[in-house]
Amino acid sequence: MSNRSETEIGIIGGGLAGLFSAIVLAKKGHQVALFEKKEYPFHRVCGEYISTEVSPLLEHLGLFPHQFKPSQISRVMISSSLGSTLKSPLAMGGFGISRYSLDRYWAKIAQELGVQLFTGISVENYQFENDSFQLQLSGGKSFSVRTLIAAYGKRSKLDLLKNRSFTTKRSPYVGVKYHIRMPFPADMIALHNFPGGYCGLSAIEDGKLNLCYLAGREGLRAAGNIEQFERQVLQQNPYLKEVWEKAEFLFEKPEVINEISFAPRSPLEDHALMVGDTAGLITPLCGNGMAMAIHSAWLAANLSSKHLKGELSREALEEQYAQEWGKRFSTRLMAGRNLQKLFGERFTTDLAIRFFGAVPALTRKLISLTHGKTLDPCASI
Ligand SMILES: Cc1cc2nc3c(=O)[nH]c(=O)nc-3n(C[C@H](O)[C@H](O)[C@H](O)COP(=O)(O)OP(=O)(O)OC[C@H]3O[C@@H](n4cnc5c(N)ncnc54)[C@H](O)[C@@H]3O)c2cc1C
Repeated sequence: MSNRSETEIGIIGGGLAGLFSAIVLAKKGHQVALFEKKEYPFHRVCGEYISTEVSPLLEHLGLFPHQFKPSQISRVMISSSLGSTLKSPLAMGGFGISRYSLDRYWAKIAQELGVQLFTGISVENYQFENDSFQLQLSGGKSFSVRTLIAAYGKRSKLDLLKNRSFTTKRSPYVGVKYHIRMPFPADMIALHNFPGGYCGLSAIEDGKLNLCYLAGREGLRAAGNIEQFERQVLQQNPYLKEVWEKAEFLFEKPEVINEISFAPRSPLEDHALMVGDTAGLITPLCGNGMAMAIHSAWLAANLSSKHLKGELSREALEEQYAQEWGKRFSTRLMAGRNLQKLFGERFTTDLAIRFFGAVPALTRKLISLTHGKTLDPCASI
């Protein structure tokens, strides 16, 4: 790359939202530059269960990862740390695949479609001036783009630079992930509660399971380290105790992330369209953050393409994106935040599980509130 370069559209971050936006825009004939600060493939903290609301869209675009034989998940089991359980079918359901495989697969497709993929390069800052964006990259280089999609995930130093309101409060959550092997039904996702958090368990590809939990930072600090926290706190739940007794853990050490905030965010910042977690992070117990990342990327890419073709002014692009984003995601983000309150408290969770276990229709309604409708690839945007 020369010291100054330019193209039509820039994307910050190569997770699902960034890669998906890049692929859609490249398929529509646009010049795309995507900047990802890491090198593929790599593991991320994520439950790796993708809601089928996006499956028809992935099929339509040839992006469904059939060759990895993802698990097909159609039921959920929830347990409290006192051992009560609730089981329910999942009306929408989902499939399980590791981000290690999926992100690498889509990065390869993006490159084959002509996306300029800059890996190992971080966007340090961006400014909007003279109807275009100036990006400052690590290594001192800069890049100019007409339209900018910000897909840099849960938290980045860019959020601090742009003074986004959620950065002013410390977030109390930590996320931890492993891949493991043990006997477990491939069509089920389990959500096991423990004091201060919950842990998801579900099948991905190659007979492996994803084990991923969200925990309160304070509890972890009090235990001293992750290993002791798992022994003293997670294993209070009999189902999790069994996992630690029986499973083969496949990572040398867990993947860990800090500072996870579910506070509301804006879908626009300094004229950039925010997609995926950058626009709003849904609580993981809903299991549809990745579907939302793909859905918002679909919206941003389609509207950006109209803008680049001269069919939408910048003002109309921003207005329509913000409006559509609110319509499609605000309710479920709020439902997710409220549902989260029922989890992680020893007695409240137990009570909630026993109550919802006795009223299956209510359980199904609650699950549907946190999910969207199946995304129709042919519906106009
Ligand atoms: C504990 C936990 C469990 C979860 N489980 C599930 C689940 O089972 N199902 C589900 O659907 N969702 C789940 N989620 C949510 C899901 O992981 C996210 O919603 C999804 O990964 C969002 O994708 P994204 O592309 O927006 O962000 P990411 O996948 O985080 O990608 C962002 C990318 O941007 C890059 N980046 C950051 N800053 C810069 C920069 N300045 N320059 C260049 N690159 C940058 C990062 O390296 C990263 O690759 C879970 C979340 C947590 C915390």
